Amino acid sequence: MTLHIDTALLIGDAFEAGQERAEKVLNPRSGALILEVPEASSDQVDRAVAAARGAFDHWSRTTPAERSAALLRIADRIEAEAGAFAALEALNCGKPINAAKGDELPAVVDCFRFFAGAVRCQQGTAAGEYLAGHTSMIRRDAVGVIASIAPWNYPLMMMAWKLCPAVGGGNTVVFKPSEQTPLTALKLARILAEELPAGVVNVIPGRGETVGNYLINHPGIDMISLTGDVATGKKMLDAAAKSVKRTHLELGGKAPVVVFDDADVSEVVEGIRAFGYYNAGQDCTAACRIYAGKKVYDNLVADLSAAVSTIQLGNADDATNEIGPLISLRQRDRVASFVERAREQGHIEVTAGGGLLGNEGFYYKPTVIAGARQEDEIVRREVFGPVVSVTPFSDVEQAVTWANDSDYGLASSVWTRDVGRAMATAARLRYGCTWINTHFMLANEMPHGGLKQSGYGKDMSSFALEDYTVIRHVMVKHG
Ligand code: NAD
Repeated sequence: MTLHIDTALLIGDAFEAGQERAEKVLNPRSGALILEVPEASSDQVDRAVAAARGAFDHWSRTTPAERSAALLRIADRIEAEAGAFAALEALNCGKPINAAKGDELPAVVDCFRFFAGAVRCQQGTAAGEYLAGHTSMIRRDAVGVIASIAPWNYPLMMMAWKLCPAVGGGNTVVFKPSEQTPLTALKLARILAEELPAGVVNVIPGRGETVGNYLINHPGIDMISLTGDVATGKKMLDAAAKSVKRTHLELGGKAPVVVFDDADVSEVVEGIRAFGYYNAGQDCTAACRIYAGKKVYDNLVADLSAAVSTIQLGNADDATNEIGPLISLRQRDRVASFVERAREQGHIEVTAGGGLLGNEGFYYKPTVIAGARQEDEIVRREVFGPVVSVTPFSDVEQAVTWANDSDYGLASSVWTRDVGRAMATAARLRYGCTWINTHFMLANEMPHGGLKQSGYGKDMSSFALEDYTVIRHVMVKHG
């Protein structure tokens, strides 16, 4: 299949080349240049914001049924071209083609279909006479023009998570993909231009410090939505403070995995092998910080290290790969330096992986770090790579205290055969999500989002629709 690659940005209903510096888009499997995508100029950002503002009055007054129909048409178009979208994502991110096609594309299509339904059945307070002689009603209306800024780990899926509740809720959007992974966003822009009125979604690629920074500080923006790093989230808050913009932040994670002594070790091993290393660990919910009861600790470390050593990556036949490389040389070096610093600690043992794989591309071997302590950097900081640490704990109090002792608060899991212990522990974990005897699984009906420095915006579910709409009160005086 010859892969067609779009590089033009979408402003209103027109496609045009970016006017600023050409950004190199690399293939992470080889480090080779795929192509260059010129980034948007300030003038182009101005025009994208103006197009979104121009489209808002009409779009925000369409019926939920009209917006739903548009989302359904987009879902069908993505599904019809799922192979091409998956191939682009696999090329740009180094994802195994089976993961892109089998896991991500169906989830993206389902996201559009879920919000197509959700927008037609929003719930609210009953209208009534709360003051004698007056009828009050609650409205849920669009916020305005949203600046949406996405990361590189799941480019198309993050775009879907941001666009669906925003557009479904009657907002218009200026969307900036990550400068490292703009290709699927630019392809989706072609479909959006055909299925939505001009200006409802505008797509402008470019770097964070240039295009992103100009966009979030733009006076024509009403709300900023970011999925990205905590440090980037803080910049959004600074920009938002100047004109009191709303913000929706989905930031990093460092998910604790609490394994009690009565857990089924083979299931835990299978689970962490899958959910700690999926997408090469470049996932904010990755099962990366294991706390194991003292009785299971030795077996868990031994079995996990053996299992992780069998993870398939870097094979010429991509159909056999389970994970891909890291996104960039910078990210690979960052991951390698975390492991090197951990290795220098006398009490730590690297029991699987712990090095680069091959000379080509940005591969790092799936790694297990045993004997890590709560105060170690490898336990505290987000690595965002195929690296899992294991720490022994002595009792439930220590496990819960350590699990909660993190700046992050996105995802967590508890592994035990005792349902009471599972529920009691889940209730005490300060994380946006707690899985029991699994990890990582998402459903478009359920919210995804964090506590603490992981942010506070909810993606997916009807709660995302609430985040992208505002409550208004309309009161009518009788007679
Ligand atoms: P990043 O914060 O470096 O970049 C995210 C986006 O923000 C990119 O599009 C980037 O260009 C833009 N950006 C950077 N600086 C900016 C600025 N000053 N102004 C405006 N925009 C700016 O993050 P990343 O490296 O692309 O992604 C990895 C991070 O994202 C990790 O920390 C990860 O945990 C987090 N993440 C979180 C979730 C979640 O749902 N909570 C999901 C995926 C990724």
